[in-house]
Amino acid sequence: MHLAEQRFLSLWIPLTVWVATGAVLGRWLAMPMAMLAAIPTGFIVLSLLPLALGGRTPVAQWRIWLLACTLWAVFHHEAGAITGWFAWSWIALFLLNAMACLWLGLRKFSGLLETPAIAFRLAAFIDLHLLAIAAGWFFGWSWAIAGGALIAACYCLAVLRPSCQWLGPVRLTTGDHSLLITIDDGPDPHDTPLLLDLLDKHQAKAVFFMIGEKVRRHPELAREVLRRGHEIGNHTMTHPQAGFWCAGPSRTRREIADCQRAVEEATGFTPRLFRAPCGHRNLFTHPIAREHSLEVMAWSRRGFDAVEADATKVLKRILTKIEPGDILLVHESTPIAVEVMEGVLQGTGRLLSKH
Ligand SMILES: [Zn+2]
Repeated sequence: MHLAEQRFLSLWIPLTVWVATGAVLGRWLAMPMAMLAAIPTGFIVLSLLPLALGGRTPVAQWRIWLLACTLWAVFHHEAGAITGWFAWSWIALFLLNAMACLWLGLRKFSGLLETPAIAFRLAAFIDLHLLAIAAGWFFGWSWAIAGGALIAACYCLAVLRPSCQWLGPVRLTTGDHSLLITIDDGPDPHDTPLLLDLLDKHQAKAVFFMIGEKVRRHPELAREVLRRGHEIGNHTMTHPQAGFWCAGPSRTRREIADCQRAVEEATGFTPRLFRAPCGHRNLFTHPIAREHSLEVMAWSRRGFDAVEADATKVLKRILTKIEPGDILLVHESTPIAVEVMEGVLQGTGRLLSKH
């Protein structure tokens, strides 16, 4: 927020609270007395209101106050004299902000549409829904509901199933007879050094899919991973596992680009592989990964070690029916990370990638 805006608001908000309090007190007191009494009362209200209208950042705080003051203005714009005048000033401020948001949103959106694949995917997604609405219009609304449900089911399958190739190519095997261990969610100050020692002991190489925020916190670990001959992959900046599958193009781009930058700044290495949090991609992941020359990689064997506390069960799921060419998924930053890695390395031995 601009300094001049902050100065204006730090004057305008207390004045509004003073006027609003004065208007309330004016019901019982004569107006000059009410305005005088509103000075200490308004001061108390202004001290108490932030407890209810708290925002974590100055911008969030401003949004809350703007909404609260506009709400007050909607009910008081017909009041006469100074109260009505203040109410109208808040309605004008709200409209100005709404127009600015709309303009900024349109500018950002048109920038995103410059990537043809994103524009195409958005258009296809909207067209499919329009088609469902048209089917409802001509053949009855149960057709529209059925069409909508079908689109939603296909979308869920495409984004939530890590091996699904509908949205773009996903690498699931090594393409030769070796195995590849991939380690997600690091670097971790406790697990990464131990896993590196284990991999060295078995002369095995792995791909570490790292979270950008953690790379920023432990750049020395990322450098050590590369120094020992392993590869680092992009696993998004903040690992938004609950919301990445439905993220829009700008958030997807931010998550991928920021992680890419974090790894480059820490190590000088540019990741070539990308893995979405939990393997859940969204409509825009593939075109944006392509912009960064990233290949999207999933896995063919996993043991759910991020949620399972028993390493034996995890190893059973990973190692049973293991085949040459499999890509294995394990995690660090879990209580059983070292135990699982030891079991995987012992169980897979000769098949492991050693280049
Ligand atoms: Zn992950």
